[in-house]
Amino acid sequence: MDGIKKDYVFHRDLKKKYPIITHGEGSYLFDESGKKYLDACSGAVAANLGHGITSIGEAMAEQAKKAAFVHTMRFETKALHLLAETIGKMAPDHLNKVYFTTGGSEANESALKLARQYHRDAGRHQKHIVIGRWQSYHGNTIGSLSAGGDVKRRHAYTPNLLNYAHVYSPYCHRCPYDRQKDDCLSKQNWTCVTDIERSILELGPENVSAFIAEPIVGSQQGAVPPPLGYFKKVRELCDRYQILLIIDEVMTGFGRTGTNFATEQIGIVPDIITFGKGVSAGYAPLAGMIVHDQVIEGIIENSDGKFIHGYTYSGHPVAVAAGLAALDVYKQDSVLENVKKQGLYLFNRLLELKQKHAFISDVRGRGLLMGIELVKDREQDLLFDPAEKAAERLNGIAMELGAVFYPGSGSIDGTKGEHLIISPPLNVTKTEMDEIVRILDESFTIFKLQLR
Ligand code: PLP
Repeated sequence: MDGIKKDYVFHRDLKKKYPIITHGEGSYLFDESGKKYLDACSGAVAANLGHGITSIGEAMAEQAKKAAFVHTMRFETKALHLLAETIGKMAPDHLNKVYFTTGGSEANESALKLARQYHRDAGRHQKHIVIGRWQSYHGNTIGSLSAGGDVKRRHAYTPNLLNYAHVYSPYCHRCPYDRQKDDCLSKQNWTCVTDIERSILELGPENVSAFIAEPIVGSQQGAVPPPLGYFKKVRELCDRYQILLIIDEVMTGFGRTGTNFATEQIGIVPDIITFGKGVSAGYAPLAGMIVHDQVIEGIIENSDGKFIHGYTYSGHPVAVAAGLAALDVYKQDSVLENVKKQGLYLFNRLLELKQKHAFISDVRGRGLLMGIELVKDREQDLLFDPAEKAAERLNGIAMELGAVFYPGSGSIDGTKGEHLIISPPLNVTKTEMDEIVRILDESFTIFKLQLR
């Protein structure tokens, strides 16, 4: 760290030092030594258009020059309306009202609170418990952490967490309910679904306000899509017991999986979709939720139109300007087409890598949200000990070689199971994709030597 004598930054890991980034260009980041990193995970699956897009930077600067802050409890801007309209039109039918926050955790926190208020004001006073899934991440605030299943992040705060319930999400490659995939899918009595109903009945349907899930599980499991029909069954259960269905698209939204929202691929209409990351392509902290007309009608009728909630930076004009400019780039540059094309290419290249490296036991994902499950030996189905930190170490090697991936652990039961997410910017080129695969390939070879 040239010129920095004392480190005043409170990092998540105070014992670690990170490269100082000076700038970015397209899919690459550059550190102060001039070393470049191919951003094969778009930061935290957020920098979805890469770096240096001047139209977005200029839109933000223009807005900052005009009005730096507009308090949305007193005023509105045309840009706010335009962004809400653009997002509302991209969302599934009947989801039309858009509420803005600054991050995904806040978006989910808002959705959980809206579900509670919606039921309470309609006279369903007891409905307050949320059912989430162990293999899920919804954020770090107390509500969103309570809904999610990140065991490592939850552990220290156990006494503070809310009394939310959890089931396992479908992971047919390694079923947490010990079912055999073909048998389970053909019989239609999927334990990952019947367990939700068991949980609802155990808690008492009159107490359950919402069920929350990612359409494709991201950081907690490594890009795992559900079996076809899973969410239809979940939707039926939610309808039967008057439970709101919240679909967390913070990672999957805005083209990441090949459609505007992954919800389009799971074939249901949720009550609330939460979003973040890709909406501004990481150029500004921007997130929010899109709410079904029925919920909005309920709030108008039973709550005098008031959602008892709010953030200072909700709908911040500079972030809104970034969102509008980013969504324009997605459209102008036919980004969705590129996601479909490069996503398929990446999937096939990862399957090739699987043939070569016994560390890879599964390749999965949609669009440019791809994941691989890492094991010590595929033939013997030998898992890594969590203490070996396999995914972290593999990513460390890749960073030395000039590419950064998104490592994760706990994909099987919250403690065991290692995975790596590959999620480059959505405008990635084929040449860059080949470089990603080459570096991953080399990283596995070095990793194997290190394990000897
Ligand atoms: N939900 C999902 C699915 C996420 O992947 C994340 C972040 O990784 C969040 C919520 C939390 O978003 P944020 O970190 O912006 O608060």
